[in-house]
Amino acid sequence: MSAKLYANYINGEWVEGAKFENRNPANTDEVVGLHTAGTAEEMARAVEAASAAYPKWASMAGPARGALLYKAAEILDSRFEQIAEDMTREEGKTLPEAKGEVRRSINIFRYFAGEGARMGGFIVPSERDRVHMFAIRRPVGVVGLITPWNFPSAIPAWKLAPALICGNTVVMKPASAAPLSAWRLIEACHDAGMPKGVVNFVAGAGSAVGNALVDAPAVKAVSFTGSCGIGHKLHERASKRRIRIQLEMGGKNPTIVLADADFGAAVENVVNAAFFSTGQKCTATSRAIVEESIYDRFVEAVAARTRRLKVGDGMQAGVDIGPAVDEGAMNTILGYIEKGRAEAGEPVCGGRRLTGGEYDKGWFVEPTVFAGVTEEMVIAREEIFGPVLAIMKARDFAHAMEIANGSEFGLSASVQTSNLSRSLEFVYGMEAGLLTVNLPSAGVEYQLPFGGTKDSSFGPKEQGPAALEFYSDFKTVYMKY
Ligand code: NAP
Repeated sequence: MSAKLYANYINGEWVEGAKFENRNPANTDEVVGLHTAGTAEEMARAVEAASAAYPKWASMAGPARGALLYKAAEILDSRFEQIAEDMTREEGKTLPEAKGEVRRSINIFRYFAGEGARMGGFIVPSERDRVHMFAIRRPVGVVGLITPWNFPSAIPAWKLAPALICGNTVVMKPASAAPLSAWRLIEACHDAGMPKGVVNFVAGAGSAVGNALVDAPAVKAVSFTGSCGIGHKLHERASKRRIRIQLEMGGKNPTIVLADADFGAAVENVVNAAFFSTGQKCTATSRAIVEESIYDRFVEAVAARTRRLKVGDGMQAGVDIGPAVDEGAMNTILGYIEKGRAEAGEPVCGGRRLTGGEYDKGWFVEPTVFAGVTEEMVIAREEIFGPVLAIMKARDFAHAMEIANGSEFGLSASVQTSNLSRSLEFVYGMEAGLLTVNLPSAGVEYQLPFGGTKDSSFGPKEQGPAALEFYSDFKTVYMKY
């Protein structure tokens, strides 16, 4: 069967061109689809279309924009199973995880659809007599969205929906490793009857179309999620043009495990946060910082639990962990495992590429646990973005906090403890944007702000009511009557 072609979407038209393959990382014999490799010229046309559509879309009543988002959500819901299967086949995460993510995208569309009828400004009393003053939210203009492959539906959704409801028009550039899940959102917008030019989609290499998007004069804001390396380059480019930019980037997320924690729950939470989605979550735990009195027992329990995880094709029932997203990602992970071996010795479990039988067709790595990791080691400092956990020893809570905060990143962090004071000391003292207590460090909901601090992020937060800050601006009005 020949692979389906997924065209780019410019000014309400499906536009074909040169193709690139989207292969299943669990079975590289399978081409999930052929996507259209856009060009800088096509990107310019997409921005032009978004620019032409902007005045009408921006002046449409918020509830009317919301009605279109509700309709798109209905369409996504009606295709729920297909979209989830597409995601597992293109990204590798397990089908239950993919279903959870698609459900989240639908909820995000509905949440921001409602914002169309709710979006508030400020009205406050004036110091002056007979002056009425207030501030209203206005859209920013044409917005560029650049998204990664690891949450290939939810991240595009949590940028697209708030951008649209605020009245901006959009050009999206999805990740080349998993473009289909984002394409499904665009298809739903098209089928919902969004006016032409409001949403545009140009897939293709980041270096070609991504830069063209950031450089396009009509683009007034860029929201990016991805690696620090690319994010920092885009920041420079955007700053030269003095346009808004929002960056959500890497992490080196710690989970502190104190001796007073519910031991079994702490083991489950760390294993879940370190390995589910193959450790390819920006909020994954990659450092477990454990109080010394329970250290040896904890290492043993985590290793035993990790050995029971089933690695395989995420479409199969019972599989806990899928493959790395592609060969490059797998090789990066294996490279870090070698560095870990050189620094910390043989891992207590895992440490190899999985081979033989079905494994030979995909990019599978054993979930890997290193013990005895200390702060100066590379595997304690750099983002690996794979199923590798470094377990570190802390003398006490204060020492654990010092280790946890001793990172340039500040995305998510977790503490496992039954002590209320320690929980709150963690909440107030931890330098990260997303904190959990007695839960995995990964796993967020759409109703609250999301984003990091330090080198992990730049600009306003995403999701929840905070998402409106990036995608709108205030206009302040004083009226004498
Ligand atoms: P990436 O390589 O930085 O790519 C992200 C996006 O940028 C992709 O669409 C990519 O296109 C595009 N891009 C690449 N070069 C570009 C350029 N020169 N100009 C404009 N765009 C360009 O990151 P990734 O590998 O997809 O994602 C993994 C990273 O994302 C990890 O570091 C992870 O921590 C981070 N992440 C952070 C969050 C968060 O919320 N903080 C969430 C998820 C992921 P191509 O795909 O065509 O290269």
